Amino acid sequence: MKAVTRDPVKRREYNKTYYARNKARFDAQNKVYRESHRAEALAHLAEWREAHPDYMKNYRKEHPEIIRAQQERYLAKHRSELNLRRKETAEKLRVEFLIAYGEPKSGHICGVCPCCGEDLLRFGTLHHINGDGREHRKEKCHHAMLREAIEHPDKSRFAALCFNCNLAAERNGGQCPGHGLSGR
Ligand SMILES: [Zn+2]
Ligand SMILES: [Zn+2]
Repeated sequence: MKAVTRDPVKRREYNKTYYARNKARFDAQNKVYRESHRAEALAHLAEWREAHPDYMKNYRKEHPEIIRAQQERYLAKHRSELNLRRKETAEKLRVEFLIAYGEPKSGHICGVCPCCGEDLLRFGTLHHINGDGREHRKEKCHHAMLREAIEHPDKSRFAALCFNCNLAAERNGGQCPGHGLSGR
């Protein structure tokens, strides 16, 4: 067996060739380590980033294309999960809106359509009483509209109508021709 030299230069050379010869094994070991210590590594990275806010800010500014590619990879990888979460958020907001605006009636969690009496839980929608729905939709997404109606209640502007009455009202300049908005 070859004796390992004490000469630091030769020693470094030896280590380098040893590493190069066994690269595949080291890579595999490192991979196993990284995977089994993933949470720790991520926590460490988050800590480091928090301690170096300027570094991250500059990095983002200097490499927008890398950041964008990362975001796209993340979106692609988590698309179905993100879509599901978005759907859940939308449904939660819709129900919250309907509870606040629907016409109360016992046995109906979200109340009923003030126009036709249809249960709102299944088909309730946000109606713009003054016909400004188109402009409002241009201004913000559906989530944001619902959030606005919930956080800044305005029953002179928003109403909860069933899908049919809402559609009919929109096509008829604000009034559902079949029923007429009762008292609103
Ligand atoms: Zn209706
Ligand atoms: Zn109606």
